[in-house]
Amino acid sequence: MTARRLQFPGALFDGKSAGKHPVDIELTPREIILKKPGHKPIHWSYSNLRWGAITTSPFHIEHGDDNDEFMETLVVEDPGFYASVLKIAPDSFSATKTQTDFNWKLYAAGIGLLIFAVYSFIKTVSPFLADKMVDKIPVTWEVSMGQSILKMLPVEQKPDPKVLKVLQNTVDLLEQSVEGNQPYNLQVYILPVKQVNALALPGGPIVVFEGLLNQAESPEELAGVLAHEIQHVLLRHSTRGVLRNLAQSMVLTLFIGDVNAVMEGVVNLAGELETLGLSREMEAQADRKGMELILSANIDPNGMIRIFEKLTKEESENLPKGKSISKENDMELSSYFSTHPSGQNRVAQLTKQMQPHEDRTWTPLFPNVDWNAIKPGN
Ligand SMILES: [Zn+2]
Repeated sequence: MTARRLQFPGALFDGKSAGKHPVDIELTPREIILKKPGHKPIHWSYSNLRWGAITTSPFHIEHGDDNDEFMETLVVEDPGFYASVLKIAPDSFSATKTQTDFNWKLYAAGIGLLIFAVYSFIKTVSPFLADKMVDKIPVTWEVSMGQSILKMLPVEQKPDPKVLKVLQNTVDLLEQSVEGNQPYNLQVYILPVKQVNALALPGGPIVVFEGLLNQAESPEELAGVLAHEIQHVLLRHSTRGVLRNLAQSMVLTLFIGDVNAVMEGVVNLAGELETLGLSREMEAQADRKGMELILSANIDPNGMIRIFEKLTKEESENLPKGKSISKENDMELSSYFSTHPSGQNRVAQLTKQMQPHEDRTWTPLFPNVDWNAIKPGN
């Protein structure tokens, strides 16, 4: 039978005075007794102790009060100390705390941080991926992407041929002023909703909302919006926007491992149609390049300014952004400008861009067409 050691030398840091105080430690089944020469013995109950590293000496044992304030620390160098405590007080020792105790607060904070990191990663990386991809994907892919989105939209199957002719002729005219060869088939579609809006789909389709047709008072005004949308197509903005959405759901899938999330992302595009993920920078660029197109096509740029002024007015009247006034469908699409850069700023930019051309004389776009007589909603 080996003798059980119950006495150990130690050092006490009492948290009040500087320096360590040598103590004699005595182990009992219920408590640790600390003896300092010339002082009363100190009794530490095991349940008030918290152990630091327990596998190797020196052992650090903290003593706490009822509020779990651990002020005093006992340091024991003897490598046999821990084993002796376990032997003399196996039950009491299980009541002591160790520093490896699970810290829920820290854990929650860690999880929060992780979620934030993943979220930031997705937000940062997916646009980056999309932007890397967008210049490499072939036009045929863009076209099929645009066609599948178009299929989700309840566009007018039998549009008024006179109205459609004005729109398509305007687009064709603008297209002739595009520098170099452009690979897209810029086809106009009409969406029978009262909202004042228009959108460009990847690969060519341009969808004009009936509300916009009603608000426009001349072919020149229509030309302003169409030039803007044409630039979204040519600059691959819509494609980039769709890819950003797609990339976001795909990166998300890497984390949650759910292919359905990707499919959901694709389906959700229908809900994001009003923006197609376009950024303010893209919008400003489409404005600027759109106005350039208007000017090189010799179309009166005041039309573009006027329609954008109307859209700005519409925007301020429709605030806060609410549900759309849809005629035949329940599609919820927010107003044109709620997703576009600040209207007033845009009008100011366009006006500035037009200024050098103020003295030019403009011939009417379609002198033989009475747009206000044929436009829908009258
Ligand atoms: Zn736009």
